[in-house]
Amino acid sequence: MDQPTIYLYNTLNRRREVFKPIKPGEVSMYNCGPTVYFNMHIGNLRAYLVVDVLRRMFEYLGYSVEQVMNFTDVGHLTSDADEGEDKMEKAARRDSKDPWEIAQFYINAVRSDFKDMNYLTPKHWVRATDHIKEMIGLIQKMEQNGFTYKTDCAVYFDVTKYPSYTQLQGGQELEDKKVGVRDEVNVDPQKKHPADFALWMKCVGQHECHIMRWDSPWGAGFPGWHIECSAMGTKYLGDHFDIHTGGEDHISVHHTNERAQNYGAFKKEVVNVWLHNLFLMVDGGKMGKSRGNMYELQDVKEKGFEPLDLRYFFLGAQYRTRQNFTWEVMKAAQIARKNLSKAVIELNAQASDQEGIISERYRSQFIEAVADDLNTPKALSVMWALVKDETLSSADRLATVLDFDRVLGLDLKARLKNIRILTQDEEQKIERLVEARDAARGSKDWTRADDIRGELANMGVEIEDTPDGTVWRLT
Ligand SMILES: [Zn+2]
Repeated sequence: MDQPTIYLYNTLNRRREVFKPIKPGEVSMYNCGPTVYFNMHIGNLRAYLVVDVLRRMFEYLGYSVEQVMNFTDVGHLTSDADEGEDKMEKAARRDSKDPWEIAQFYINAVRSDFKDMNYLTPKHWVRATDHIKEMIGLIQKMEQNGFTYKTDCAVYFDVTKYPSYTQLQGGQELEDKKVGVRDEVNVDPQKKHPADFALWMKCVGQHECHIMRWDSPWGAGFPGWHIECSAMGTKYLGDHFDIHTGGEDHISVHHTNERAQNYGAFKKEVVNVWLHNLFLMVDGGKMGKSRGNMYELQDVKEKGFEPLDLRYFFLGAQYRTRQNFTWEVMKAAQIARKNLSKAVIELNAQASDQEGIISERYRSQFIEAVADDLNTPKALSVMWALVKDETLSSADRLATVLDFDRVLGLDLKARLKNIRILTQDEEQKIERLVEARDAARGSKDWTRADDIRGELANMGVEIEDTPDGTVWRLT
């Protein structure tokens, strides 16, 4: 198949560009991964949905994708600049664990969320702490190239040595940058420019008791946050690769610094396309812990939704829009996904065992949508138009929708095997049993409650007790 033109928005050049891979037929991509000290919230999950669809699109179009994603398990301080405490160590104190245990616990949680959301596993899913040697090597390269200086507390990158330091942020004059001008008691007085950032933090002063520490040419210490991504990116993808992704919050500090490090070490632009998803809003505003709306996947499940309902919801907005999450819109996504599953099951029944042919007309529309800077809402509407198009045979429609699902990732094939459509009688019976179990629990009759749970399980129904009451779903 001829490879169609793919457009991606490149933050570096502030424009939508035709994507040209460095090596024909191959895509090398680095995705900034989670800092593993807390469960991911749905905003994080949106960022990885974008990564997943991007990879699926390339693979669908016949590219091979070399993908690297990191786990940040050291060095990310409570501010994205160099102030504050290491997030991992802070969490370790909070949970009375050591930072290694914290990292392992939340890495497992991330893996489980990825599985639930049907996100493909990155080929290289790597931990920062396994790459300290590479980070030290990269800092030494920058040192040799004259981009660093040392203070009593740290090794810094000297941003004045890199003329296009601010290009990713929009190219403003360096002096305009208001970094480090806040009333921070921890700012290193030997730091030359407020925008200079730490490559290596020494275990002195406020970091004297840092638990995660390694020997280095600059003394015992730990890496700054940004160096890990430069080290892991170039280790696995080389010193020139196609795409680097992350949330829009990474543009001004993390990715700006990463790009500077790449230049300091390799004296060239390492990444071709910097791709950023915009934030997820909740109830029309910013998500925040204090607002109580920093939902996790578990919260979504407890409201009676399946993770793939959330996936369907995410697909409903292009990644460069600030998508707004509400429970009402989630409900609509759930209904739409249910209808899609029903439609696919019906097409399957009508097609019986007839082999379908993929509709080239719809396929080219679908590709045009996803290749247009991942226009997933358009891709969904093409899919729905196809599903409803009665001029095509059921077998052809089925074959085509399952083909599209290689990009959408709604796991429709599994629906064909697993999902049953309940009759009204069956649904009422389940509701009655759930109520009876609630009543048994109310009167502390645990044996009866367990018996009913068993009876429901035999019917292929799973129940979960949540603060909002009992929810059930088909397994
Ligand atoms: Zn990163």
